[in-house]
Amino acid sequence: MVITLVSLGCPKNQVDADILAHSILKAGHTTTTDMTQADVCIINTCGFITSAKEEAIENIFNAVEARLENPKLKIVVTGCLAERYRDEIINDIPEVNAVVGIGSNGDICDIIEEVVKGNNICRYGKKTDLDITAKRIISTPKHYAYLKIAEGCSNGCYYCAIPLIRGPHRSRAIESCIEEAKFLAEEGVKEIIVVAQDITAYGEDLYGECKLHTLVQEIGKIEGIQWIRLMYAYPERLTDTVIEEMANNPKVLPYLDLPIQHINDRVLKSMNRKGGNEIIKDAVARLRKAIPNITIRTTLITGYPGETEEEYNELCEFVKETKFERLGCFAYSEEEGTVAARMENQVDVDVRQQRADSIMMIQTDIMAENQAKMTGKEIEVIVDDYDNENEIFICRSVYDAPEIDGEVYVDGKSEVEIGDIVKVKVIQSDIYDLYAELV
Ligand code: SF4
Repeated sequence: MVITLVSLGCPKNQVDADILAHSILKAGHTTTTDMTQADVCIINTCGFITSAKEEAIENIFNAVEARLENPKLKIVVTGCLAERYRDEIINDIPEVNAVVGIGSNGDICDIIEEVVKGNNICRYGKKTDLDITAKRIISTPKHYAYLKIAEGCSNGCYYCAIPLIRGPHRSRAIESCIEEAKFLAEEGVKEIIVVAQDITAYGEDLYGECKLHTLVQEIGKIEGIQWIRLMYAYPERLTDTVIEEMANNPKVLPYLDLPIQHINDRVLKSMNRKGGNEIIKDAVARLRKAIPNITIRTTLITGYPGETEEEYNELCEFVKETKFERLGCFAYSEEEGTVAARMENQVDVDVRQQRADSIMMIQTDIMAENQAKMTGKEIEVIVDDYDNENEIFICRSVYDAPEIDGEVYVDGKSEVEIGDIVKVKVIQSDIYDLYAELV
């Protein structure tokens, strides 16, 4: 069969799609990005907040439209939207031929056979049947890849639907993670981006304690891996052992994604976030003390039920004081099935968004200030791509994760190749990006 595989959402969902793709290719099928040439289109959806759900539904209807030109096209929906809204998809989008829960990703080839025979399929294994140790392809540019070290989440933040969708936290064994990291290195990957819903919970279930530092140490021993980037840490769980490993392991980048969501103790408590104001400030202080040039990325939510103007102002002051190097702020979005969605004191939708926009205004000034300080500095970058039109290399520094952070532009005549890790000198900056020359 000829298969189109569209993957939406976060890097963790991308890894699931890479595993689906590996099964499909191993079964002898081929892939195309052109749905009008395909027998089956698989849409690996995201479904954790409203905007993601809208994007997923839009992609499903793109496939329905493609079927007008290609009547044999079968549509299979996998991923978080399928896991969360099985009945709604079946009832509201009858054009869909199969809805597949994350626990049945392993059956993808059998499901393809069935839909091509004309059968409509609804298959839902247990969430915990999702095999995150399965073999995968690498769909990112070959010099970097995401390594998913655990699935699900047990933190139970009251606004979050992920535990409802992905199930409880379950770590992969260290051996399984290392085996995949070695495969990635053999395939030419130099930057491994370690992801999970909460990487700081890694190992607690399997080994009775956090083993993130041990895993990072082992990844650091793999030849070919030059950069290790850590994403999605939980402030309350950030141990000194992990910070020491980050500080002492030369391959671990001075970068950490540390979503805090808010800073006011009452709001954090009503979000069911473990650890309050002091723990968050302490985590940031410990990181900056141990790794002076660290880039901390964080995520905030404004307009959470009951958030007062005073509590919001406290958050604004904290953002001004802390000067995070990278920050994203989202207006609270009610998610069915979550505790927060049932709370009485919902904040007006426009106020939620106004608060988020104002925080991003504050952050824009901080970004411009931080970026300006980079001028004249020598930094390491990885070459992600070449822009033919503008004749420049598009790179990322040690301080930039793919897709969510800034870029570093280097003159196109420079003696570099895509995938190289090189030293450059920053000659100019703007709010998000830098312009540099090869050293
Ligand atoms: S830590 Fe909280 S916000 Fe993050 S995935 Fe888990 S429940 Fe959701």
